[in-house]
Amino acid sequence: MIKLLIPDLPRTEQLTPWLKKIDEQRWYSNFGPLVEEFECKLEDLVPSAVASDTKLLSVSSGTAALELGLRLQKLPSGAKVLLPSFNFPAAAHVARNAGLTPVFTDVDPNLWILTPEIARAVMHHTRVDAVMPVATHGRTLPIEDWDKFAIETKVPVVVDAAAALGSQAVGRHTTVAFSLHATKPFGIGEGGFLASTDSSFIEQARRASNFGFLNQQSRGLGLNVKMSEFHAAVGLAQLERWADIRSARANLWQLYGEQLQQVSGVSLPTAYFAQPLAALQVQVEGDGSEVAKHLLSAGIETRQWYCPPLHHQGGFGDVECIASDGLDRLMVTDALAKRCLGLPFHTRLEGADVVQVCSSLSRAMSLMSE
Ligand SMILES: *Cc1c(COP(=O)(O)O)cnc(C)c1O
Repeated sequence: MIKLLIPDLPRTEQLTPWLKKIDEQRWYSNFGPLVEEFECKLEDLVPSAVASDTKLLSVSSGTAALELGLRLQKLPSGAKVLLPSFNFPAAAHVARNAGLTPVFTDVDPNLWILTPEIARAVMHHTRVDAVMPVATHGRTLPIEDWDKFAIETKVPVVVDAAAALGSQAVGRHTTVAFSLHATKPFGIGEGGFLASTDSSFIEQARRASNFGFLNQQSRGLGLNVKMSEFHAAVGLAQLERWADIRSARANLWQLYGEQLQQVSGVSLPTAYFAQPLAALQVQVEGDGSEVAKHLLSAGIETRQWYCPPLHHQGGFGDVECIASDGLDRLMVTDALAKRCLGLPFHTRLEGADVVQVCSSLSRAMSLMSE
């Protein structure tokens, strides 16, 4: 069986030196020395689109980072938050839990992301109070274009770059949330962080992540979403492995790029292979779930990532949908949902596995066209 995803986290031996530090210091949470060291080192991995430095706050999950990023925009209750339906449900839950109104839109057919152009087009048809674009499968969003959008429209942009550590930069006017969940390229179990070039925003988020405490008094937003020293220990051990993980993933990525060129009936978004990504999803001619069955019988596990799209999931059935043309059909998302197929992508894969996946895919595609 070729697995879809195998997390790659530090082993016990690699954790021990860091755990010993916790034993010595007896400091377990509340912005301890390991969290501080981890944040400092992580900052170097997140470039900013402008000359100023990236500041970040580590938290207990990517969803918590999104929640802080969105709630600190201080939008009035019921404000409309535009996000793509072709997405993991976290950002939509966050909008709703914050008392805001999620609105789903479509993605660009060539890029599979919500672009500033789509957001601007939607704004001709309905009010939008905030936008949460998503780095689909970890691909890079055009952060300078989103900066421009935020300045020109005065609509805040909170980016869900959950799976994009290593490929997404932080903008001058955009806040970016990342996940460190076990299934992401840089996994620590559960964790995440919020990044911004605005250090006072990050300090505000730091207080909000700890009950809103400032000088022992609680004020403003108060959550408890801090990262513990134990999770920072895993993060510090993982940092030592990150260069190897990245290069293994980049090699796989390149190999898939070459092999997939030989598979007919399979397409990819524009410039998909220009960067190493979190997950690999292709679009097939025909029904993705049928191709998935063929691959499973060949011993290959796959998944249709982000399917069904959020507007077809029970919990979000009542959410308003609006595409760039002002209509309520999300045609690109619906077409993608039918045709997309996520292929195995993790550091345990060997070159021969990639060749096998692609030749089985090729066989499945020719069976489908018979
Ligand atoms: C993984 C993921 C999340 C959630 O991150 P957690 O750390 O699990 O909370 C949110 N959005 C996207 C796009 C994701 O891939």
